[in-house]
Amino acid sequence: MQLVNYMHHSHCYYSKDDITQYMHYVWHHNAEQKFPERNIKKWDDLNFKHLFPRNSTRSENTYLAEFIHGHSIRFANFRKSIGMDESDICENCDTMVDSPEHQLFECETFHCPERDELLQLMDNNIADFNWKMITTEEGNTQHTTELFRKIVKFIVDTTEELDEIAQLDLAYY
Ligand SMILES: [Zn+2]
Repeated sequence: MQLVNYMHHSHCYYSKDDITQYMHYVWHHNAEQKFPERNIKKWDDLNFKHLFPRNSTRSENTYLAEFIHGHSIRFANFRKSIGMDESDICENCDTMVDSPEHQLFECETFHCPERDELLQLMDNNIADFNWKMITTEEGNTQHTTELFRKIVKFIVDTTEELDEIAQLDLAYY
């Protein structure tokens, strides 16, 4: 997937078309694996509007897409998979393997009230969370999608703050 190559640069934003295409691809791929006997052709446009609302910015949409497909240097497991890092352990908690699921639902560094609420709505079952987020099956609603957007924003903002602090520390010493 070409989009994955773009992700190796730290500052890149997708266009809405890129994201649409990629989400179609991910959705189709997941759908085929999950329901091999069904002939799945249609993307759920309503859910796409919830995930990427009209007033959302390109950077917001890019971040959201990163947390769905996971192919981003934001995640240590991906960095390890492309040989950029030796370890896939989360740099924030130093205990668990880093991944979108880890940052969204496990890492203490990124704990927020929206996470608790979304976990409760998902019955603490985070398996296939990206599937749940891009389909309206399995009880996903506009509300769960909004929670997901808020959690991603919280993680992105927190990561930026931590990076700034780390750079200040480096400049100080
Ligand atoms: Zn962690």
